[in-house]
Amino acid sequence: MKRIVILGSTGSIGKSALDVIRRHRERFKVTGLTAGGNSELLLEQTEEFGPEVVALDDRASAGALRKKTRIPVYEGVEGVCRVASYPQADFVLSAIVGFAGLAPTVAAVRAGKTIGLANKESLVVAGEIVMREARQRNLRILPVDSEHNALFQCLDGKDMADIKRVILTASGGPFAGRRKEELKDASPEEALSHPSWSMGRKITVDSATLMNKGFEVIEARYLFGLEPERIDVLIHPQSIVHCIVELKDACLIAQMSMPDMRAPIAYALSYPERLPGIIPPLDLASIGSLTFMAPEFQSFPCLGLAYRALGEGGTMPAVLNAANEVAVEAFLQREIGFNDIPAIIKETMDGHRNTVLDGLESVNRADRWARQEARGLVG
Ligand code: NAD
Ligand code: MG
Repeated sequence: MKRIVILGSTGSIGKSALDVIRRHRERFKVTGLTAGGNSELLLEQTEEFGPEVVALDDRASAGALRKKTRIPVYEGVEGVCRVASYPQADFVLSAIVGFAGLAPTVAAVRAGKTIGLANKESLVVAGEIVMREARQRNLRILPVDSEHNALFQCLDGKDMADIKRVILTASGGPFAGRRKEELKDASPEEALSHPSWSMGRKITVDSATLMNKGFEVIEARYLFGLEPERIDVLIHPQSIVHCIVELKDACLIAQMSMPDMRAPIAYALSYPERLPGIIPPLDLASIGSLTFMAPEFQSFPCLGLAYRALGEGGTMPAVLNAANEVAVEAFLQREIGFNDIPAIIKETMDGHRNTVLDGLESVNRADRWARQEARGLVG
């Protein structure tokens, strides 16, 4: 029986993970759950899955939940970290959105847990630190992000010297094929209507700007130790091919499945075993055709900004991430337009004095600085 903690259990990934666990109660026991502020859903999940501990980041919500359950309810970031490092758990699914996922992910690593990693932002801002801490403890970080989970499958058993490059596919989001001028009036509703994946709001906007793919390039850099020159992006609107690995003899290996996050979540949870019946089979004849095109760096500058941040290294990726979080939230609140997202991120990056990443404190400092700068630019 694998004993599982889910960080971010009330989110899109968290709920999909509980759906996988619901079908395999004989394999998985939920020992801990955490959420931001949704105490009602966390209570429902607690009643259904019977965890031993839970935590809510929001203290008032934690107080409300405490009145309705007998199990310990921790609160605040330290409460979430306490559940992340809960001694009786084996596996921690890191599925909080954004920078807020970093501290609990690091807490889980330091407690020696196997990690299922959905929270890509923790690798964007502190990839070197998180991976080093995991290596020192001989821990596995199993990718949950679909492209990286696919890469993990395709790279299995390969000599990295034989890999010419890896290609991360991107649906292109709702605005694929549009020119920059056509995007200036794009609304939050349009940005939130993703053609192939159903996900949380922040990552859905990140998919529309292609920042999500930029983050995934950085994520691949740290998960697989690949240089940026060996990580490419290809637009593939059907979201059936999740990654392609090109070997040095010009042979390609791809991974395909229906676009359903329960597949990579299940593989991370059950690795190295595979669980049948989680997602519908892929019927290629009914899909008919798979198409591919090069990404448009001009219309979608976020992708280039992510490569730039990765190239510059140090605290720049943390600045990229923080400015993006501020800009995306401002866009969702209709304070800025769609094309202002990359503009604000670029200006914040341009004004940053890059420093080496010498521990989590330098990441936190860069994050705080960039949030303040980007907020100033939002106006
Ligand atoms: P979501 O917004 O649906 O859920 C986020 C979860 O985090 C919720 O449970 C929320 O309560 C919790 N949370 C938010 N702020 C918090 C805070 N400050 N402290 C503690 N908990 C907090 O997001 P999601 O779409 O499930 O994405 C989660 C992560 O997984 C993101 O990093 C995203 O990039 C990654 N991811 C998601 C998908 C997807 O299909 N949704 C695919 C690949 C990767
Ligand atoms: Mg992805």
